[in-house]
Amino acid sequence: MRLSMRPDLHRRRLLLLLAASGLSTLPLAGRTLAQQSQPAERPEQGSGTGLKVIVVGAGMAGLSAAAALVEAGAEVVVIEARDRIGGRIFSDRSLGVPVEHGANFIHGFNDNPVAKLATETGARPFFVDQEQWQLFQPGGMEPEDFETDDIFDDMDAIADKATEEADGDKALSLLDVIEVIDPALVKEPIGNWALTDTYEGELAAPLDEISALHFDAGDLYDGPDAVLRDGYDTLPKALAKGLDVRLGEAVGSIKHSSDGVSVETAKGTFTADHCIVTVPLGVLKAGAITFDPPLPQPHQKAIAAIGFGRLAKVSIAFDEAFWPKEPHFLGYAGETRGRFADMLNLVPIHGVPVLTMVASGDYVEKVEAMDEAALRSDVAAVLTDMFGDKAAAPKTIVRHMWSSDPFALGAYSFPAVGAEPADHDVLAGSAGPRLLLAGEHTSAAYFGTVHGALESGERAAAAILAAHKSAK
Ligand SMILES: Cc1cc2nc3c(=O)[nH]c(=O)nc-3n(C[C@H](O)[C@H](O)[C@H](O)COP(=O)(O)OP(=O)(O)OC[C@H]3O[C@@H](n4cnc5c(N)ncnc54)[C@H](O)[C@@H]3O)c2cc1C
Repeated sequence: MRLSMRPDLHRRRLLLLLAASGLSTLPLAGRTLAQQSQPAERPEQGSGTGLKVIVVGAGMAGLSAAAALVEAGAEVVVIEARDRIGGRIFSDRSLGVPVEHGANFIHGFNDNPVAKLATETGARPFFVDQEQWQLFQPGGMEPEDFETDDIFDDMDAIADKATEEADGDKALSLLDVIEVIDPALVKEPIGNWALTDTYEGELAAPLDEISALHFDAGDLYDGPDAVLRDGYDTLPKALAKGLDVRLGEAVGSIKHSSDGVSVETAKGTFTADHCIVTVPLGVLKAGAITFDPPLPQPHQKAIAAIGFGRLAKVSIAFDEAFWPKEPHFLGYAGETRGRFADMLNLVPIHGVPVLTMVASGDYVEKVEAMDEAALRSDVAAVLTDMFGDKAAAPKTIVRHMWSSDPFALGAYSFPAVGAEPADHDVLAGSAGPRLLLAGEHTSAAYFGTVHGALESGERAAAAILAAHKSAK
């Protein structure tokens, strides 16, 4: 969740209030934290409990679960389908600096366990400033301040009235209620930009798929959002130190009973006392892993109900920056909702002429269908619309297509029409005497985020340790 280039409007307002009241203790944009000590050394694998655990998936959930279990003395094998760890944290250094195909920000740095991990590993955060953005309309026009103020007021009105307007009707989408509350919004470019920035980009789903009842479900950590200058993947790498991770092994089936678990990949069979499955919701929806016995009915219903969204991020290097260098974010209020409405400017972060452009909502499918030449001309057309003759041709474009990635099949979970926040809690509960799920989709408070994934892994590890202790 919350890929949006600006933190959501509530957090933005909160930060403004804090700043105005002088209460803000937040670090300033661009300032680095002092290097802190490295995470404590882990004990040797299996140094005492006699407990064996298989963790499926080496994203943040799987690695945090495995690290906590090994810390407690368990013997753990992590089985990962890809030839790399990190899952939906995927830093690409081919443009000379880390660009993020997956998670980009630590959302809310204060008290966030991911921020704590970043600090422990000596990561260098760049704090993005949500006041540092500039919005362009077709023809390079910039809206007047009063126009953006008005549009934010409209967004606040939707946030305040949507649930009331839905009146308990689970079948209504956010689009349904917006068409009643403020039908003009979806007809004007700046309205569509704000809707993309506030909802479609944040929740990785089109307005007509987002629940009008639960669009604002979940909690936020306070504080600024941060980009890690050495790459987000430094965090999974830190967690994975000393763990037994088997790469390139896709799990196809899992047998589980009160006696233990047996996990099959194309290369062989692994057995253990317990198993934690952290594959993304998209993979569970597709039934890519066979469970014997099948997952409990409430789990299956929750897997079907919770939405798994889509986003298209494209990072583009140019010979030089022809756009304003200072803003952390650029916005494009074009004619088509979701068409590269938000952009992260890497000039202030890394000092390089690179933009990360994000498409959301219905436009994701279009972007994913574009070959390299079509994508090039589409981003060039958007930039020409924003900057006219000044816009230069892209030099290099990199991207990752999450929706067709067989080990993700989408971006992250969101409150779909018909889903309930409690569906995440169902997924966090026992899936069998020796089987648990973890991953961002199992967090009712923090679904769709790296911190949700990390906390879900720690929760699953604690549950197994408690079960093992009480069985002794
Ligand atoms: C484009 C995008 C932008 C995002 N932006 C942000 C952001 O700015 N901030 C934020 O907090 N979050 C963001 N997120 C969400 C965040 O990346 C995820 O919530 C988090 O990384 C999920 O971690 P996880 O461990 O639950 O799942 P994953 O990281 O997906 O890990 C699951 C692992 O399971 C593996 N796997 C799949 N199938 C099998 C199989 N059959 N056998 C074995 N292994 C398998 C996968 O390869 C993967 O490594 C973003 C996500 C995307 C896609």
